[in-house]
Amino acid sequence: MRILLVEDDPALSAQIAAALAAAGYAVDRAADGEEAQFLGESEPFDAAILDLGLPKLDGLTVLRRWREAGRRLPVLVLTARAGWAEKVEGIDAGADDYLAKPFHMEELLARLRALIRRAAGMASAELVCGRLRLDTRSGRVTVDGNPVALTAQEYKTLAYLMHRPGTVVSRTELTEHIYAQDFDRDSNTIEVFVARLRRKLGIDAIETVRGRGYRLRAPGDAAP
Ligand code: CA
Repeated sequence: MRILLVEDDPALSAQIAAALAAAGYAVDRAADGEEAQFLGESEPFDAAILDLGLPKLDGLTVLRRWREAGRRLPVLVLTARAGWAEKVEGIDAGADDYLAKPFHMEELLARLRALIRRAAGMASAELVCGRLRLDTRSGRVTVDGNPVALTAQEYKTLAYLMHRPGTVVSRTELTEHIYAQDFDRDSNTIEVFVARLRRKLGIDAIETVRGRGYRLRAPGDAAP
């Protein structure tokens, strides 16, 4: 899952980015509204955290422009002011949730998880696919209740697939959702992550769809 973090306060931005990375997200950062608008319109994020008071272009305008451009990503708005009028304006502009500063990082993470979950049509913070479980709160992955230790990239790969069970996900799409933009991306490494995941999980959960990508096999799916 890849997040766009838009915050002009460098200390707060660094703090949030660190918490997001620790929670298993790939993070791109923007420090002004113009950069935010551009990134949000050009890169496929799974959610955005958007401060309202920004240099060059304010957050509400950024949000309106994303929505006008047809970008439907879930957006969590951060505001220094907890005034109701600004909340109403933000919701009208297309915000999915609100968080007033100062906030606890745990609350930000919980709200973000909920937004991503809702966008993927998931009801629970624990994603279940047959014998495989991934708890998005703790980052814990189990097979038949036994914990499986994954690297950060393996976790990101599995988490993305688990948010889209039964859907074919191309290597390019996976690459775009597990790496930030400034990362040296190589879609060949996806094959390596998937191979390691299969070995570590020890179950036949990730199917290769030839020429198209990978699919997390939901229980009861017909064999290809
Ligand atoms: Ca600000």
